[in-house]
Amino acid sequence: MKKLLLKKGKERALYNRHPWIFSGAVKDLPNSENGEIVQIFDYQQQLLGYGFFSPKNQIVCRVFEFTSYPITIDKQYWFHKIQRAFGLRKQLIDFQTTNCFRLLHAEGDFFPGVIADVYNQTVVLQILIRGTELILESIVEALLKLGFQYIYLKTKDVSHSIEKIQTDSGWIGNIGTTIIEVKENNIVFKVDIAEGQKTGFFLDQRDARRLVKEYAFGKTVLNAFSYTGGFSAYALCGGAVLVHSVDSSKAAIQLAKENMLLNGFSAHEAFCEDVFDFLKQTHHQYDMIILDPPAFAKTAKAVSNAARGYKELNLKAFQKIKSGGIVATFSCSQKIDKELFRKIVFAAAADARRNVRILHQTTQPPDHPINIFHPENEYLKGLFLYVE
Ligand code: SAH
Repeated sequence: MKKLLLKKGKERALYNRHPWIFSGAVKDLPNSENGEIVQIFDYQQQLLGYGFFSPKNQIVCRVFEFTSYPITIDKQYWFHKIQRAFGLRKQLIDFQTTNCFRLLHAEGDFFPGVIADVYNQTVVLQILIRGTELILESIVEALLKLGFQYIYLKTKDVSHSIEKIQTDSGWIGNIGTTIIEVKENNIVFKVDIAEGQKTGFFLDQRDARRLVKEYAFGKTVLNAFSYTGGFSAYALCGGAVLVHSVDSSKAAIQLAKENMLLNGFSAHEAFCEDVFDFLKQTHHQYDMIILDPPAFAKTAKAVSNAARGYKELNLKAFQKIKSGGIVATFSCSQKIDKELFRKIVFAAAADARRNVRILHQTTQPPDHPINIFHPENEYLKGLFLYVE
């Protein structure tokens, strides 16, 4: 196995178990192929771990194992990693009531470059780097051994261009169906794994959705950026008297309608519209408004524009909410941290001249674990606010 040698002083990040090695930290780049597994050494030739090599990436190596003694990286090794991840999920999730969850959360499961979401018997795999593509066979074998029946690979365009991933999206082995019915806390959803966003469903809002259910009784609810109606279904399940779902995606709105019918919820109206326009035009006053926009800031440069977007959105919600109502507001932009998000939301509340108190602060659920040595992994923030 080839060696990657770090510059003197650059071993600190690895001692701290941060899994990313940037190009500037490397003394000798190995003469390895993109995606090859390399051994990482400090300047004293002490072994620090193993990682996937990405010579064209700013992050030239993603570490998946920290160890000071050599180990064998083979099919068994990957199987055990995935088995451990599954073991954690078995402790977290009641499979009787919920059969969709995240099985592998990249660095959060010490497995950079791979996301695996489970929808009943199907695993949707996202391969984000060439390194994980090269071990795809081992990943697939492990998933089948753990009892999953169908595997659908979903590669992202960006991975194709930077990481030179060669495999296209599609089934690996058994061919299943791309529209899958799942249950989450006993609420039923149809998920389109092929055409839907991300891997098909926003599994990361499971806990926040449950909280919405708890507050929804007797309320009129606006679910802005509803996607396929996740929050809407929970609100109706909790006894909301009317729910409006708004999303700019036609396919998402169509599925949102189907999902409400599937659960027998009728107090629902869906609007395929831009949320900013909807909020400007509507004269409706709601008891509860949910704001779950897409990541407005994907890069550090985009943060100030994104902050303006979040502020405007939250301001509108504070203006529309009835006294004694709840605004549940979220941000999934990793570049906007918890503190900045709070500042933006609090500034919007001040501009709206409303009294606002925090009832709950939410984050990603535990099947999206946050590796404490890799804070970049923490991306989802939510505030449940009581507005008078
Ligand atoms: N809350 C959802 C996930 C929301 S994802 C759930 O629990 O499943 C963000 C959604 O915002 C996507 O469905 C996307 O289509 C939609 N979207 C993005 N920009 C929008 C805009 N300007 N107006 C309305 N919807 C938008």
